[in-house]
Amino acid sequence: MSGIYLHIPFCKRICSYCDFYRTAALKELPEVVKKMCEEIEQRADYLSDKKIRTRYFGGGTPSLLAPHQTQQLLAATERYFDCSEVEETTLEANPDDLTEKYLRELRAMGINRLSMGIQSFDDDCLRLMNRRHTAQEAIEAVKRAQDVGFDNITIDLIFGVPGFGGEKLAHSIHEALKLGVQHISAYLLTIEERTRFGRMVEKGELQEISDEVAEAEYLLMHKQLTEACMEHYEVSNYALPSYRARHNSSYWDGTPYLGIGPAAHSFDGRSRQWNVSSVKGYLQGAAPEREELGEVELREEYLMTRLRTAEGFFMADFEHRFGTEIAAKIRQKCEKHRQEGLLEIESDKVYIPGEKLLLSDRVIGSLFDL
Ligand code: SF4
Repeated sequence: MSGIYLHIPFCKRICSYCDFYRTAALKELPEVVKKMCEEIEQRADYLSDKKIRTRYFGGGTPSLLAPHQTQQLLAATERYFDCSEVEETTLEANPDDLTEKYLRELRAMGINRLSMGIQSFDDDCLRLMNRRHTAQEAIEAVKRAQDVGFDNITIDLIFGVPGFGGEKLAHSIHEALKLGVQHISAYLLTIEERTRFGRMVEKGELQEISDEVAEAEYLLMHKQLTEACMEHYEVSNYALPSYRARHNSSYWDGTPYLGIGPAAHSFDGRSRQWNVSSVKGYLQGAAPEREELGEVELREEYLMTRLRTAEGFFMADFEHRFGTEIAAKIRQKCEKHRQEGLLEIESDKVYIPGEKLLLSDRVIGSLFDL
């Protein structure tokens, strides 16, 4: 089974840390939705397995879509794919877009999972990040969603924000847990040059945290979440049992997906495609770019995605896919990382333990270098 990702690159306000492709030119939204419906039809043959298991509205801010626009996009997926067994349809939402009426409409049309970009429950931190909502508004939005029947909600949090670690971070995690949501994604802030935060760092108005502080914050968060029975199943993701993100999990196990909309990426098992990162270019019909994945890229992709997860990978599976010679080299490197305490090997299973997942890039990078 496959997945469909629908990218809505519009935002009312730009967050201080945002380095994604997005635009505040909301007047283009209706045209983009129309074009996305056409793209769904044009790319109906992209996926060899037309049975869809998951659909995901990401952004940007998909909650800026009017209900009839979301409905139009869902209907287009149902017209050109087999959506009779869809298990999960997620919509990313900004808390202040979630009125009771809007939430009811989303549920009625089949959205069964909400991903709420809350980031922090500290108002000063939210202001610094230039978010549109306060902590109280976020709490009320989650409760409204629960009241109308959403029973699969995930919250995004950011850690590593200068000045908001320690007790302030612990408070945010505590508030998130108190809400009884099923899933929490927690991302380490990275400060990119072209963002407001990047400019603040350059002017000396903001000081980036050190790697040691980032690791300490990660461990604090990890402890709090796992003690609350949340399963740490991927570097940035925690879930109550049976509430792992199915759509995102398919990115990590190599399931093909079709990405629709400006800047959306697709994967068919052998190649990647990505749409132009420009609303104007997208509306003008710019063709997606494409990259065939050779043996090396497929191997790196395999290691990168599998080692981000708590499951890791099985050496026998790796050897079956990539051959004995390469497997022997990987086994040797993994053994070295095991001795350093960065990686676990349990009979045939190789994985990075939860407390070390923040350092997964370092381990994965070294496995690329054969
Ligand atoms: S909501 Fe997301 S995409 Fe939009 S500005 Fe903020 S971080 Fe960027």
